[in-house]
Amino acid sequence: MSTRLEQPTAVQTEVTPSIWDYSPAPESVKVAIEPRYDLFIGGKFVAPKSKKYFASINPANEQTLCELAEAGEKDVDAAVQAARTAQPKWAALKPAERAKFMFRIARRIQERARELAVLETMDGGKPIAESRDIDIPLAAQHFFYHAGWCDKLAYAFTGSGGKGIKASGHQGIKGSKTRNSELGTFPLPVGVCGQIIPWNFPLLMAAWKLAPALACGNTCVLKPAETTSLTALRLAEIFQEIDLPPGVVNIITGAGATGQALVNHDDVDKIAFTGSTEVGKRIAQACAPTDKKLTLELGGKSPNIIFEDASIDQAIEGIIQGIYFNQGHVCCAGSRLFVQESILDEVIEKLTHRMKNLRVGDPLDKNTDVGAINSKAQLATIHKYLEAGSREGAALHETNGSALPSKGYWCRPCFFTGVQPSHMVAREEIFGPVLAVMSFRTPEEAITRANNTPYGLAAGVWSDKGSKIFAIARQLKAGVVWCNTYNKFDAASPFGGFKESGFGREGGLQGLRAYVNI
Ligand code: NDP
Repeated sequence: MSTRLEQPTAVQTEVTPSIWDYSPAPESVKVAIEPRYDLFIGGKFVAPKSKKYFASINPANEQTLCELAEAGEKDVDAAVQAARTAQPKWAALKPAERAKFMFRIARRIQERARELAVLETMDGGKPIAESRDIDIPLAAQHFFYHAGWCDKLAYAFTGSGGKGIKASGHQGIKGSKTRNSELGTFPLPVGVCGQIIPWNFPLLMAAWKLAPALACGNTCVLKPAETTSLTALRLAEIFQEIDLPPGVVNIITGAGATGQALVNHDDVDKIAFTGSTEVGKRIAQACAPTDKKLTLELGGKSPNIIFEDASIDQAIEGIIQGIYFNQGHVCCAGSRLFVQESILDEVIEKLTHRMKNLRVGDPLDKNTDVGAINSKAQLATIHKYLEAGSREGAALHETNGSALPSKGYWCRPCFFTGVQPSHMVAREEIFGPVLAVMSFRTPEEAITRANNTPYGLAAGVWSDKGSKIFAIARQLKAGVVWCNTYNKFDAASPFGGFKESGFGREGGLQGLRAYVNI
């Protein structure tokens, strides 16, 4: 029986079978998955002291992939101790030596890219084309990029001082005119970092967290999300292959309680968290009375603004990418669409046409555009919003296209029109393939309405006029503003939010700041 929940009555668009329909293109690589995975602590896989395991499910067919160890408080403690023991030696390595380890990790990710992509898709439900072309290459890129920073940290943070550089392994750059001591910075590692990541980009989020921390001489305890731990555990195998010193990275699987134990551990110097605003607030409260450093990358309800002078066809692709990429499980998803009133009908017509051509189904098929929803719980959350949208008076538009698989968690891409700013679908993060379409008349109105949210993670602006783009972008309260594009990521570009979307940046020079004490 399908676990697809009943949706409210919707404006449905028939999908006409095309004479150019795609043939199935299933991924041919088979990935071996062990029946059971232990915790990765001190460079070894060890059974949990808790003696507990939980099942990891493939959301596209509801089959159990394997069992994962559930780290209890004693396991968290063992992982933190391993990281603490390893930290001084890791920090004292010559920066170029640290960089060599990181380059090796990046290269092994590239060499094992196809296996990692297939595993990511089986574990999380995202289309293989996205795992293969976005998640895994970007994960490798983050290690490459940050490897380059290892021996340049003193140049990244200029200021006063000087002698602390040696303690973090920075010996100066031979042949360089400017000596580190002249630059006078003290970029010391923070120590042991507890890092908690979500299920939407599992390996990529692991790379976002680990790479800057390691580059700066820190050691890490990483907690992946309960539903998507498999690629992090493959990464642990890569650490063994490249002889990363034991304890430099420890990976502890488990649910929220494991994350909470890590946050509350006395010997953790820094917490980096990506996930919901609700849990982020709880973590902020837990860290407030301590001297732990904290960065939070939380939710979003990002506006995508289309002006009448934009290239409409190009903007439609950006809207589609912005909301339906990764089933909408994206913190910076362009989930609120603001369209200038004069082009509203045209945009809705083109959006409907483009949406009905999206292929929903088997994530391991290379032609699939929209894969499975990550978990049964997330599907129920999305349906709660679909019901609320219709109940509050908005009109739901969805395709009633080809049949969905009989097992697994599925939601067809859809959008709401007739949305009021007070509607739940306009205010709250849905984290699914659901777009709220609204209109505006003037640029001032667009800015006011775009900023009318407790979040501030990202935004998109579409216009033919460069000056208008720059003027609007400056007034949007968002950490990232994409212009005539959407969802472009690069390791060199800082990412992070304003307001309830969190604080701190990840990526780029700015992302290193959270991992050093100056
Ligand atoms: P959570 O915020 O609960 O999960 C994120 C990570 O935090 C996971 O590893 C989770 O573990 C862990 N965690 C949960 N509770 C605690 C705690 N008390 N202390 C420390 N760590 C904890 O997100 P959900 O998976 O529950 O998703 C709920 C909603 O959050 C989504 O519908 C979406 O709106 C939003 N979300 C936003 C993300 C973003 O990037 N902005 C990412 C993920 C979700 P585990 O998963 O194992 O329980």
